[in-house]
Amino acid sequence: MDRDEAAALDVADPLAPARGAFRIPEGVVYLNGNSLGALQPAVEERLRRVVTDEWGTGLKRSWNDAGWAHLPQRVAARIAPLVGAEPHEIAVTDSTSVDLFKAVVAARRLRPDRRVILTDERNFPSDRYVLAGIAELLPGTEVVAVAADEVEARLGDDVAVVTLTHVDYRSGRMHDAARLTAAAHDAGAVVVWDLSHSTGAVHVDLADWHVDLAVGCTYKYLNGGPGSPAYLYAAERHHDTLRSPVAGWFGHADPFAFGPEYTPAAGADRFLAGTPPILSLAALDAALEVWEDVDLAAVPHRTRALTSLFVELVDARLAGYGVTLESPRAAELRGAHVTIGFGGAGPLSRAATAAGVIGDVRPPDLLRFGFSPLYVRHVDVWDAVEVLHDLLADGSWDEPRFRATETVS
Ligand SMILES: *Cc1c(COP(=O)(O)O)cnc(C)c1O
Repeated sequence: MDRDEAAALDVADPLAPARGAFRIPEGVVYLNGNSLGALQPAVEERLRRVVTDEWGTGLKRSWNDAGWAHLPQRVAARIAPLVGAEPHEIAVTDSTSVDLFKAVVAARRLRPDRRVILTDERNFPSDRYVLAGIAELLPGTEVVAVAADEVEARLGDDVAVVTLTHVDYRSGRMHDAARLTAAAHDAGAVVVWDLSHSTGAVHVDLADWHVDLAVGCTYKYLNGGPGSPAYLYAAERHHDTLRSPVAGWFGHADPFAFGPEYTPAAGADRFLAGTPPILSLAALDAALEVWEDVDLAAVPHRTRALTSLFVELVDARLAGYGVTLESPRAAELRGAHVTIGFGGAGPLSRAATAAGVIGDVRPPDLLRFGFSPLYVRHVDVWDAVEVLHDLLADGSWDEPRFRATETVS
């Protein structure tokens, strides 16, 4: 394939128009939407309006007049179709880490006679920290972490909860969520998926997979902005029995009655806790509008096409320079980012960023490139690999100025 052929694929792509909703800076190939999704001008405008008009002029009245009080539900209704859920099964609130805490504690309490929380030993570190904290807090709870391929074999009648991240943050490897959920249910366990690297990037159908609970991030492929609130999914069949361990007033059936006792709200809303972050929610609400015009069935195809092209070009152009593929070769086993290994990952990533190709690094020697299906084009993939090739071919990645590390890699 040459660059013209890549450009032709972009013309033919049904998702191509979505890029027009985003503002990618001139001269930048942005391949880090798996870490922080790109900005849409519509989000910028919405934030200006919320700050100046709704907050500045409307003041407290905007809780009613501008619909702030129902913003979590409004955003939940936008996320629901992206993950195969009903709006009342989604609560948009807090960070993914906090939502995972709430979801796993609630799930654990559905199986009081079992003591094990089963996870993958390579699960996202924050998820593992949260699980360790839960084990400290709940007497008789033990976290068992096994290799990803051994989760099914470890299932048994002591396992209360199975919690896994669908797409691995490092390798981009994707679990078979439907199969693992069914296996966990056969063993009597409750399942909590972390969909942080999945939502907006790969096929997700929580109803079809019969998932019990899930959490996910909105600042990656949903482009909600830095630190935008996460979401928690709770299947309707559990609504009567699930309790949030953080029983705050916004998760109350009638918060403004200021009653003495906590009565959980109906549905997933009981997992809301404190006052919703209106500025962040408004940004996320505006960011999600773009999905109204997206054919969701086209998303996984686009993701696979972009990641497959990257893998093909890495093989063809970078193989002679000590670069290795650290993501699955089979497109159906991958999420939307591809990871390559290289001895000088940090300097190479910083040199590529200086040349306009933005990815990131994960220690010790992995470079990640994310292919956000709404705005990354086939020509971007082509250009990115050419930049990497040129930096490797003339050795210019190895300059002293690229050796300094940064706070956020
Ligand atoms: C990005 C990510 C998160 C984000 O967690 P926060 O608490 O929202 O910062 C959680 N889990 C996984 C697997 C992630 O990739």
